[in-house]
Amino acid sequence: MKRILVTGGAGFIGSHLCERLLDMGYEVTCLDNFFTGTRKNIIHLIDNPYFELVRHDIIMPYFMEVDEIYNLACPASPVHYQFNAIKTIKTSVMGTINMLGLAKRVKAKILQASTSEVYGDPHVHPQTEAYWGHVNPIGIRSCYDEGKRCAETLCMDYLRQNKVKVKIVRIFNTYGPRMHPSDGRVISNFIVQALKGRDLTVYGDGSQSRSFQYIDDLLEGLVRMMETKDDVTGPVNMGNPREFTIKQLAELVIRLTNSKSRITYAPLPQDDPIQRQPDISLANRLLDDWKPKIKLEEGLLKTIDYFKESI
Ligand code: NAD
Ligand code: UDP
Repeated sequence: MKRILVTGGAGFIGSHLCERLLDMGYEVTCLDNFFTGTRKNIIHLIDNPYFELVRHDIIMPYFMEVDEIYNLACPASPVHYQFNAIKTIKTSVMGTINMLGLAKRVKAKILQASTSEVYGDPHVHPQTEAYWGHVNPIGIRSCYDEGKRCAETLCMDYLRQNKVKVKIVRIFNTYGPRMHPSDGRVISNFIVQALKGRDLTVYGDGSQSRSFQYIDDLLEGLVRMMETKDDVTGPVNMGNPREFTIKQLAELVIRLTNSKSRITYAPLPQDDPIQRQPDISLANRLLDDWKPKIKLEEGLLKTIDYFKESI
């Protein structure tokens, strides 16, 4: 039976991934320091004898026998990763070194959860993996963006120097049940605001765009990526190429929740990217015709149902 370590396993993406890997018949160790993740996300897995929960911070080394590592540990929303910027960069840099070191010692494969933020405020649209990005190295988003860029560098250096089997996935905005209701990300904010009858806070004039991927589509891509041959290292973009403006998203959430809320406007945060859309042709080619299947409206309805129960 394959033994798999999921760092950040009590978070939004990690908890779904643990569940998915257990369903596939693997042994799963979920490692988390509970900074943004919660036990509630994985409570239903605790009684499974093939599931193990470890409270640990990846800034410190960790040792175990394992076949595959999904390195997801890192706060992902701007509010959370800016809360303690130095800790965020330590998690991406020192944490990734520790996980790559573990992969090297036990000859495990390691998949690094990278991000579309490595493209910064992109000058190439849609973004292909060949684009090196346009990132401010000294701004308020840099602890996350540059930390994740450095983590990619580390992966490629461990591959070149130590032959570690690495896989880098650049995840674009992903949403779904178990997002933290107060993490400040646009989908959780808008749904919570609409359900509570508060005004939806659009930053800037709402013309900036994002492409939103439902969690199930990402999980399918991550698992397929881990299963690729050793010479497939990435980076590979994973996201839904359908692009929406933030204003369109606000209007859609109001409609789907039948809310009486209205839209209010607030200043655009510093370094907020204007456009973001993945070119997913590489993932499609490498991962057996992978492409997102769940439309925004369908995914939002599932997420709205979750928030109705949980807030
Ligand atoms: P999340 O905040 O819900 O999950 C992150 C998890 O990592 C949490 O459980 C948190 O407690 C844990 N963690 C943070 N620092 C840690 C540390 N030092 N040691 C151990 N555990 C730690 O976020 P998410 O949306 O599930 O994101 C998971 C991963 O995917 C992150 O690496 C993130 O950068 C990446 N990602 C997510 C998105 C997205 O849209 N959700 C987009 C791009 C990349
Ligand atoms: N945003 C917004 N209102 C909110 C939260 C976010 O208008 O209440 C905007 C934000 O400025 C950005 C987009 O929505 O342009 C996506 O923000 P999010 O924090 O979800 O992700 P990221 O900026 O990392 O893509």
